[in-house]
Amino acid sequence: MHKKLVNELRLSFAIRPEGPLLIKSGREAGADPTLLDMNFVRTTHAELGETVYLPGSSLKGAIRSHCEKIGRTVGLNVCNPLDMKSGCGHKLQRLSQQTEVSGADLYHRLCPICRIFGHTVMSSHIQFSDAYPTPETVRQANRTEERDGVAIDRVSGAVAVGPFQLEVVTRGEFEARMTLRNFQLWHVGLLAVALRDMANQWLPLGFARSRGLGRVSLTYRHLEIAYPGQFGQTDGRDFQGQILGVTTFLTDEEIKAYDYTPEEPLVPAARPEVEKEWGRVTQNWTRPEAIEAVLKATVTCWAGYVKGKGGVNG
Ligand SMILES: [Zn+2]
Repeated sequence: MHKKLVNELRLSFAIRPEGPLLIKSGREAGADPTLLDMNFVRTTHAELGETVYLPGSSLKGAIRSHCEKIGRTVGLNVCNPLDMKSGCGHKLQRLSQQTEVSGADLYHRLCPICRIFGHTVMSSHIQFSDAYPTPETVRQANRTEERDGVAIDRVSGAVAVGPFQLEVVTRGEFEARMTLRNFQLWHVGLLAVALRDMANQWLPLGFARSRGLGRVSLTYRHLEIAYPGQFGQTDGRDFQGQILGVTTFLTDEEIKAYDYTPEEPLVPAARPEVEKEWGRVTQNWTRPEAIEAVLKATVTCWAGYVKGKGGVNG
């Protein structure tokens, strides 16, 4: 990612389990008889005390692999990040050991998913913060239940490796936040498709997803798009009526060097409330329907990107 920060999107949303959910802690029973075989990840939060939570890395991993699936479905060339031969991270690591390559060079060579989610050589444009239960639901969320791992295996007919006991969360509401920096509008569009799938309970989280665990739903809370270094009225941009992707702020040479796709500003489907302070302009949407409408509008940018790369609109 180039050093200049030109746009930044923050989306807050609530995640609710719609059935048993297990994000494994890695602290298994062993010698401690009070623990089950597989336990939900916990941390000590300044205000909530000891609580279960959804680590940002788990959210990022699940949303990334869902975006990879979507990318492959529409015919884009998407790497397998773990593959030593084809994974963008591994390829670029080898390249940067042989020659000196610039940030633009590295970015240029990435597959669409690594451009958003990063890889071992280049940090990502996207971050997910840890999602904690809301203060109102923290007690519910921590009233975890015990499930039989063998019973789960019987559902699918797979060979049972149990019996083992799982600690699952079934209630509560977790506050998640996604931050995307220097974004192209098509990045937002792809993420919007993935988040819509999460809202429809098609993007499960955590352990034993293929066996029906981890179904969650989502509610949008707040969408904020900020443009640091923009002084609103003085530069003639229409922040009430436009959402601006990264290419709006770059020269043709920069766009070419990074292999960005040039994009026109997007007219938001719902008008934002605009704040201007400290040389930073911020667009805000707080109604869930408005946020959904804005995100949905960005999906056309994703479809346009896919078409430009010779893929199909799935
Ligand atoms: Zn890649």
